[in-house]
Amino acid sequence: MFTIVKDNKPSLRERCKEVEMPLKEELKATLDEMLQYLKDSQDEEFLKKHPNVRSGVGIAAPQIGLNLRMLAIYYVDEEGNEVIHQLVNPKIIVSSLKKCYLYSGEGCLSVDSEHHGRVYRDFRITVKAFDCRKGEETTFKAKGYEAIVLQHEIDHLNGILFYDHIDKNNPDKEIPGAIAI
Ligand SMILES: [Zn+2]
Repeated sequence: MFTIVKDNKPSLRERCKEVEMPLKEELKATLDEMLQYLKDSQDEEFLKKHPNVRSGVGIAAPQIGLNLRMLAIYYVDEEGNEVIHQLVNPKIIVSSLKKCYLYSGEGCLSVDSEHHGRVYRDFRITVKAFDCRKGEETTFKAKGYEAIVLQHEIDHLNGILFYDHIDKNNPDKEIPGAIAI
């Protein structure tokens, strides 16, 4: 199991390196472990046995001490569909002007302290990445919650944490037209 790197570690603030392609088998295995970590972290029985593990829907490689541009996402959406990503060298190539934010605020496996405030994200994004599940380069669109999670994880690859986006002087600042999710 991973030890999650917390936000007091300078390594979490670095820009991560591009992953060399073709993707090495050991990095594929790491991405599988990252995905499994997320699944486990959402399993109540697992959490009872591992009280130090917190639930998460996304994890980026720097959070496990690997400063490479890789991330995994796992959650079950409102319709009961699994949303799974295992991405290498992801890049947001298009983003909407329309903003959104998580009504309950964002959280992070690496952040134990409370950070109140709105984190505005782009409502729709187009991501280009090597999709480890498909084994090929892909371009896909995401919106709403999925787009928020992707932006949060891609931020990690650039050393950015969710609370960096909160307006310190006006944490509940309203942006007209932004969608609460
Ligand atoms: Zn995070």
